[in-house]
Amino acid sequence: MRKETLLATLGCHPQDHSGVVNTPVYRGSTILFPDLASFEAADNGTTQEPIYGRYGTRTTTELEQTIAKLEGADHAIITSSGLSAIVIALNAFLKTGDHILMVDTTYGSTRRYCDVELKRFGVETTYYDPAIGQGIEALIRPNTKIIYLESPGSLTMEMQDVPAITKVAKAKSILTMGDNTWGAHLYYDPYALGMDISITSATKYICGHSDVVMGVITCHKQHYPHLLRSYKNTGACASPDAAYLAHRGLRTMAVRLKQHQQNALEVADWLSRRPEVEAVLYPALPGAPGHELWKRDFTGACGLFSFALKQKAPQAALAAMLDNLELFGMGYSWGGYESLITPVNLRNSRTAYKFPHEGTLLRLHIGLEHTADLIRDLEAGLVRLGNAA
Ligand SMILES: *Cc1c(COP(=O)(O)O)cnc(C)c1O
Repeated sequence: MRKETLLATLGCHPQDHSGVVNTPVYRGSTILFPDLASFEAADNGTTQEPIYGRYGTRTTTELEQTIAKLEGADHAIITSSGLSAIVIALNAFLKTGDHILMVDTTYGSTRRYCDVELKRFGVETTYYDPAIGQGIEALIRPNTKIIYLESPGSLTMEMQDVPAITKVAKAKSILTMGDNTWGAHLYYDPYALGMDISITSATKYICGHSDVVMGVITCHKQHYPHLLRSYKNTGACASPDAAYLAHRGLRTMAVRLKQHQQNALEVADWLSRRPEVEAVLYPALPGAPGHELWKRDFTGACGLFSFALKQKAPQAALAAMLDNLELFGMGYSWGGYESLITPVNLRNSRTAYKFPHEGTLLRLHIGLEHTADLIRDLEAGLVRLGNAA
């Protein structure tokens, strides 16, 4: 079955719930055992049934099974946030003295986790150029445990040659994991591209309505015990209420993403013809950086991209543009139904390559509003920017 059909059918068991279509929210901390034998089975770890609220109830386990199937993985683990999914996945395979290769364009909080927490525990991180491809081989050390990927990268949107990197990793028996939030489980097949473990912030398109924080890790059988151990020993579980909302979000994810993509392409194309704009960083846009790799590795795109202005806008001009937008909100996260804009300050977050644009960088999330209204709003903003500069 195709992914659209999986989204519309998986995790529906009305006969178990008085005919109600959706699995209800099973809230629980204590889960009672019917007898001593089942208590002891849970104690030995030989049961598949929910045994304690922190490890999930049926509301969460059905969501896990749905996402695993959607991504073609054996297992999924739902966590409290995208960041906790990243932390759990890294911790599952690392110990003092290990080394990891981290893409330079990784999500900012992933970078801070490596630089602050992993460093304190004696794990060393080397950042690599997202364009490195098979050149990754030269950075591998005897103690390299993980190669971590994110394609396209956060904020600056560089595509990676994922199969070239995972091929080198496989030959050296090094684990690969990727943050695949942008591909949203629909437009990307991390396992076909050779990744071992896939991480997604479900906060974005899975939930899709700017009201839930959640993460997902998927994997095949051989890595599940490590990930499950790390997850269980961390306690970073998602609530059943959040899981319910996530499953509800999944039902419409394919249709939402189609519209996000269509709207984003229209806005990106319009921006690419504006005189103020130096570059539109949206791999799905023909002619944009990474477009050829995107065509090879993805079957679609989401609504998130960035663009660079030709000039560094003075603060007052940027405020004149951003403070008076009617439809674009300024705030963190993305993947909801609404459009967002944020100025990007890369600070010192690029150390392995040089980002080529000097002008002001802005990130857009294109929502489900009509593009005629979105473009009008952006156009008025660019005019205010020009008048104030
Ligand atoms: C938002 C985001 C995360 C973190 O997810 P949270 O659910 O906010 O913790 C991780 N990776 C990427 C690429 C993101 O955009």
